[in-house]
Amino acid sequence: MPIFNFTTLGCKVNQYESEAIAQYLTENGWSAARSKENADLFIINTCVVTQKASMQSRQAVRKAIRSNPNACIVVTGCYAQIEPDEIKKINGVHYIIGHADKHTIPEKMISRMAKHIPLPEFGPLLMWSDISQEPEFRSMPVTGFANRTRPFIKIQDGCDSFCTYCIVPYTRGRSRSMPLEKVLDNIKLLKRSGYREVVLSGIHLGHYGLDLVLPTTLTGLLKQIKFLRPIDRVRLSSIEPTELTEDIIKIVAESDIFCHHFHIPLQSGDDLILKRMHRHYSRSFFRDMVIRIHEMIPDAAIGVDTLIGFPGETEKAFENTYSLIEKLPVTYLHVFPFSGRKGTPANSYPDKVPSQVIKDRCLKMREMGNNKKMEFYKKLIGKKVQLLIEGTRSRSTGHLKGITSNYVPVFVSGKDNLKNHIVQARIDKVYGNEAVFGRLL
Ligand code: SF4
Repeated sequence: MPIFNFTTLGCKVNQYESEAIAQYLTENGWSAARSKENADLFIINTCVVTQKASMQSRQAVRKAIRSNPNACIVVTGCYAQIEPDEIKKINGVHYIIGHADKHTIPEKMISRMAKHIPLPEFGPLLMWSDISQEPEFRSMPVTGFANRTRPFIKIQDGCDSFCTYCIVPYTRGRSRSMPLEKVLDNIKLLKRSGYREVVLSGIHLGHYGLDLVLPTTLTGLLKQIKFLRPIDRVRLSSIEPTELTEDIIKIVAESDIFCHHFHIPLQSGDDLILKRMHRHYSRSFFRDMVIRIHEMIPDAAIGVDTLIGFPGETEKAFENTYSLIEKLPVTYLHVFPFSGRKGTPANSYPDKVPSQVIKDRCLKMREMGNNKKMEFYKKLIGKKVQLLIEGTRSRSTGHLKGITSNYVPVFVSGKDNLKNHIVQARIDKVYGNEAVFGRLL
């Protein structure tokens, strides 16, 4: 039985695609490697979103080659799409496969094995095409995730926005969506496999449906989900401020199927920086939106992405971001340092911010994020919550871990048969921003 090993870097969409490929291989008689040395096939699903991600992608490829020099090495993902020539320089890579051909990886590998096709000897075989010409959404259905209680569904790919710092539109092409009926079918498939919650994911989720032959919107999809209730819980992944409309907030507020959780990429709270980023909203727009969410769904978790140290970010501009978030009912922060990407406009902008200044500002933001999370957690003490119990216990305490609708991990004592069930609990104790403990009801 041939054995494969996966290394996945980057976003939920990459993770989803890895899972889809792994599942196809498994269904066709392959098994996942227990130790890397035994693998016949290594697939490295790379990321390019920051310089660090590109470096880690190259490291992962080299590590795979070292693990078993006789194995077949396949490199795919965003780094393979953007920098195939860099990967070619790494001795020992056999296939470089861009996004347009990613879905063909399992079939190619299965037939290569079955027909005893030898590995390419003189440099890697390149399967790559211009992703901007990719005409439609490629479905890669997944019926289960090996290590996840809450699986993702990739319902949208690509992005048409071209924010000046972002490499993603060049790596994933234009926005393309899974037809609405297929999304519903995929959710039902996961429900039949025993899952209770799905996370709707995409590169630019708010553009869902606009490209379809029968165009629809994310709002249209959510209305269908609200009506049909194909699964117990549905969570939205990251959604742009301008696309998190009043209608969407209302649908989430009115139906218990949707998790009270929004993740919003703000990036900067300074109007001038937002303009330079080509982000089409203002700090006041963002402020009003967060306040509206809080008024309509007081217990909602509101996570915010910030991009710190964009070229031209003065001390005042940074303070504008800091003070905007500080005053808002934001629950947690994801803080990213600016990292220039070759081929994006911002990479050649002048007035770069020194790296130490970026580090200091990130630290300050992260401290605020931790405090905000702690305050959010503290307000839960004594409250009744619904938890989806995950499949593994906490290694340090042995407790079961459940996730609330508003994205709080809660530890409870209980038996294994509660795993993958939605249970009620009351929050007892909170330890800083680290741990929340509850009691089953
Ligand atoms: S909206 Fe902007 S940041 Fe998000 S993927 Fe598109 S270009 Fe990148």
